[in-house]
Amino acid sequence: MATVAFIGLGNMGGPMAINLVKGGHAVTVFDLSSSACEQLAQAGASVADSAAQAARDVDYVISMLPAGKHVAGLYLGGEGLLQQLDGSTTILDCSTIDAATAREVGKAATAAGIGFMDTPVSGGVAAAAAGTLAFMCGGEAGTFPKAQAILSDMGKNIFHAGPAGAGQVAKGCNNMLLAIHMIGTCEALEMGVRNGLDPKVLSQIMQASSGRNWSLEVYNPYPGVMDNAPASNDYKPGFMVDLMVKDLGLAQQIANQSEFENPLGRLARELYTEHQSAGNGQLDFSSILQKLKG
Ligand code: NAD
Repeated sequence: MATVAFIGLGNMGGPMAINLVKGGHAVTVFDLSSSACEQLAQAGASVADSAAQAARDVDYVISMLPAGKHVAGLYLGGEGLLQQLDGSTTILDCSTIDAATAREVGKAATAAGIGFMDTPVSGGVAAAAAGTLAFMCGGEAGTFPKAQAILSDMGKNIFHAGPAGAGQVAKGCNNMLLAIHMIGTCEALEMGVRNGLDPKVLSQIMQASSGRNWSLEVYNPYPGVMDNAPASNDYKPGFMVDLMVKDLGLAQQIANQSEFENPLGRLARELYTEHQSAGNGQLDFSSILQKLKG
């Protein structure tokens, strides 16, 4: 059993923290939203008045926050947690943020003798609740076993991607690819349908052929092909277009910083941004089919 401070109890952090309580850990939580804290109190966590109070004398600080500025605000600067922690605590930031901020926090933590890993996740709210998230970790190899020991109560596949920031880079690569193969899958299905094919039959053919991919296999974007996919439920998320646009922006930053031309990732970002601007931000990201239909 470990002592854990969990900061950020939103759609993802809430169920993740509950899984740590269920795993028998002593969890103290903090969120700006008192109702989010109240839900965790009901699940058996202690509630602190501030992040600093939650992080007092714990084995782990785990954060699940919206963006890089929130993570930098939590850990860096005169009021940041790095000022109060020492080497007995390991920091795991599960938020999806820019790789530059993750590297900056990692560097500052290392300078203070504190173990840090950026540990963004793949898998949405359902995987967070089921404890089946995948974690992509960036940080020193010596910190990885400590990360694995606690992350395994919230997820199934835990990878060490490289040094601080590498988790965010891996996440950016994955979600850029996800956007590209979702758009490609929609394009192929729509072209088949316009030429008289049944999307169910075409999906079966491509699943057994070289066009096979995750979007086709477990998340089919065509309504009626797969009963439990968001497409068959009015594109209720799932994984929102808003979040895909955020992740494609982070992927683009990674590409730009490494002076890498990524034509398909760039185009995917443009298409998803236009789809979002047309008022579809809250729909599941597989609704990009509607944009391609025109
Ligand atoms: P959310 O908006 O539901 O939750 C964020 C929580 O952080 C809120 O409860 C908010 O009150 C809290 N918060 C913000 N600033 C804070 C601070 N300074 N101190 C304490 N609490 C603070 O977001 P979410 O959907 O849970 O996503 C969290 C992270 O996970 C994001 O980085 C997101 O990109 C990533 N992510 C989300 C999904 C998804 O499907 N929702 C999937 C994978 C990754």
